[in-house]
Amino acid sequence: TKTAKLLDGKALAEKIYKELAATIAELKPKIGRPPGLAVLMVGDNPASAAYVRNKEKTCAKVGITSFGQYFPTNTTFTELEAVIAQLNQDEQVDGILVQLPLPGHLDSIALLHQIEPDKDVDGLHAVNLGRLVRGEAGLRSCTPAGVMRLLEEYKIPLEGKQAVVVGRSILVGKPMALMLLEANATVTIAHSRSQDLKTITQNADILIAAAGLPGLITADMVKPGAVVVDVGINRLTDSSGKSHLVGDIDFAATARVAEYLTPVPGGIGPMTVAMLLQNTVSSYLQATNH
Ligand code: NDP
Repeated sequence: TKTAKLLDGKALAEKIYKELAATIAELKPKIGRPPGLAVLMVGDNPASAAYVRNKEKTCAKVGITSFGQYFPTNTTFTELEAVIAQLNQDEQVDGILVQLPLPGHLDSIALLHQIEPDKDVDGLHAVNLGRLVRGEAGLRSCTPAGVMRLLEEYKIPLEGKQAVVVGRSILVGKPMALMLLEANATVTIAHSRSQDLKTITQNADILIAAAGLPGLITADMVKPGAVVVDVGINRLTDSSGKSHLVGDIDFAATARVAEYLTPVPGGIGPMTVAMLLQNTVSSYLQATNH
């Protein structure tokens, strides 16, 4: 039986790390310092802590210095605002990111708007989102940028194609749709109020699932020959108590219909971290006029 080709985000992320490491090794002696990334983490959410550790480990691997800081759950907005103001001024720091979610008493949007837009390596500041809407250069949000980079690697044509994005969050769905539009796809955005999701997704030459619902996209919803990208990351626990990660797409059945498909894990997750590091290196190059 026919089976989809894998869009291997893990392999591409490794290739990007090698390229970034080579760029840094070449430029560091000329510039006199390595790139720097500050990840701010508040509280002790175990999933967030694991993400932050992974980001720091990957930074070390390519030669980016981490200026990570951990804060207790009861840290105030004013305290964090002061830390961000200081990092905005710090010439060793090219990228600043606030690991989400934050404890409930902190206004995460107000806080990320304290970040200098040219250090906003998550691409979530209104200035960077505005640049994306306008089609101007700027820091792009990492997850949708990772999807675009992966599609580019496999030379997937986007121009004139029907692209469907399931999900409209500011983190993934909306910037994803704008990036596909920028690449001249014809873009449809589906969300929880969309009627007849199946009819919408069946039209997709390029289908991006970013809803956070395991099993949302079944094989009968996928156009034969489509390129299918699964952004969803959902932790499921089986009857024996073992937990594992799945996306939003029924992987096994969809693999018999799609032309290309991303695995979970090993697809967009690693690409997201790779784009974060790439954004940090772009900020570094920009800050040092390279
Ligand atoms: P949100 O919960 O913020 O957004 C989910 C979106 O899906 C919403 O727009 C929602 O619609 C839509 N949705 C919910 N149910 C349905 C449905 N039944 N049919 C169609 N659309 C639906 O999640 P995020 O965007 O932050 O993340 C989405 C997924 O991607 C999650 O699994 C998350 O873990 C994962 N993720 C993965 C990353 C990675 O590195 N690979 C990075 C970031 C996220 P509405 O707006 O109407 O509520």
